[in-house]
Amino acid sequence: MATLSIDPRVSGRTADFVATDHRMLIDGRFVAAASGKTFPVYNPATGDVITHVPEAEAEDVNRAVEAARRAFDEGPWPRMSPSERGRIMWRIADLIEEHLEEFAELESLDNGKPFSIARVADVPLTVDMFRYMGGWATKITGKTLALSAGQNFHSYTLREPIGVVAQIIPWNFPLLMAAWKLAPAMACGCTIVLKLAEQTPLSGLRLAQIMDEAGLPPGAVNVLTGYGEGAGAPLAAHEMVDKVAFTGSTEVGKLIVHAAAGNLKKVSLELGGKSPAIVFPDADIDHAVKGTASAIFFNHGQCCCAGSRLYIHEKVFDQVVEGVSHVAEGIKLAPGMDPACQMGPLVSDEQYRKVVGYIESGIHEGAKVAAGGPVSGHERGYFVRPTVLTGTNPRMKVVQEEIFGPVVCAVPFGDKDIDAIVKRANDTMFGLAASVWTQNLSLAHKVSRGIRAGTVWVNCHNVFDASLPFGGYKQSGWGREMGEEVLNNYLETKAVTVAL
Ligand code: NAP
Ligand code: MG
Repeated sequence: MATLSIDPRVSGRTADFVATDHRMLIDGRFVAAASGKTFPVYNPATGDVITHVPEAEAEDVNRAVEAARRAFDEGPWPRMSPSERGRIMWRIADLIEEHLEEFAELESLDNGKPFSIARVADVPLTVDMFRYMGGWATKITGKTLALSAGQNFHSYTLREPIGVVAQIIPWNFPLLMAAWKLAPAMACGCTIVLKLAEQTPLSGLRLAQIMDEAGLPPGAVNVLTGYGEGAGAPLAAHEMVDKVAFTGSTEVGKLIVHAAAGNLKKVSLELGGKSPAIVFPDADIDHAVKGTASAIFFNHGQCCCAGSRLYIHEKVFDQVVEGVSHVAEGIKLAPGMDPACQMGPLVSDEQYRKVVGYIESGIHEGAKVAAGGPVSGHERGYFVRPTVLTGTNPRMKVVQEEIFGPVVCAVPFGDKDIDAIVKRANDTMFGLAASVWTQNLSLAHKVSRGIRAGTVWVNCHNVFDASLPFGGYKQSGWGREMGEEVLNNYLETKAVTVAL
């Protein structure tokens, strides 16, 4: 059945899925866009079109939202016992796990990331997310409250699903971002319309099939493929939607806030970052070199929490810069399905141009290239070499703006007091994450307190777990993903008071 030559290394099953006539999931049925329009999906390792998917527009958004509304107001999903809901979520987890290799192939092909990474990170973390959140379905509780207004009252709170939820996700971890959004909302009994990223729709479409196979009732989750303006914007503005949850750029996050104003729907946002990694002179330097290199180069720097500002104490500056540069130069750039691949291409031509543009702007403003640079040596595909810049100053674009590529700015510090380096680390509009590299316990805790960010890692970076809340201070977002905290995004609290 596979007719397109996508990559000879993917299995026949994946090749067949890629070549199918793709359909969106609306109201329990797999459907084309109302207009019949489709748009192309690219393999970023070659730039070739590998398939087409439906292009949802306002009419499809309406159908999906109406289905989710019916499923919430009348359907079984919010009324099911929590244990039944949890069981369906675990079935989804089991099915994803059964198809682990297939999902990892789809992620690699569509996003460009190494297959070897997708199969040990993206897919297992997705499975964990459905299992962990499936467990919460049975543990959502209110409180009983003692009133000071008088003793003749019995008061308690109910935690109820917020309603119809619109979810809009990016392309950097296509399957995992879908799970971060879907699983907690499902556990709470919400119904959902999810819009996948235009660059990476394939794993989400396969997930839609699996959710259907697992027995999810019609309309409980609807999955759309489409562009931000054509599908995302009408979804975020829709009057029948009670809540919108968004992950992506800070710029589009602000558009979501405006779009939500019409019916004052609730909003949660997981946005960009410019996360500092701070290396103190007493750190285990070998460990810090490997860790801070991975902090920026993991997923090709396409992580909202990438350690893109590397502050290094002047005593160890040269040693750490040399070490990280050595790691960068040793990383094997290849298509994600190549077993030798350590870093694949960036997701798209647009991201490629943007990231190369940043490297060039840094050089133009006077930065020095310690490793990498704007030329990849690959004739095809959106490859960017892991790049280390030195000689920057705090006002350069490369230091202030989110690059979302494998580019790190190494900056020396000689500050005597901790407050000064903390202040530098906080000198950004973002506040998503940070890492601290030291063997001094008290220093580690003091810096962790001083950092204005939703996550601080000590002697590690990019450690994620379904149980750990994740999200941003400042312009990095509103609300938290994962952990118990995420349930707040998808629940309302009702206070009930009974006169006895
Ligand atoms: P983006 O434009 O913010 O896209 C994120 C999601 O929002 C996508 O599904 C997108 O659809 C959708 N969208 C776009 N415009 C919309 C609108 N007006 N209303 C509703 N939804 C809309 O991000 P991007 O263009 O893919 O990447 C741009 C930059 O964002 C990156 O370079 C990076 O700096 C940042 N980013 C951050 C994260 C993160 O995790 N924090 C993730 C990805 C990107 P389309 O797919 O059609 O664009
Ligand atoms: Mg976009």
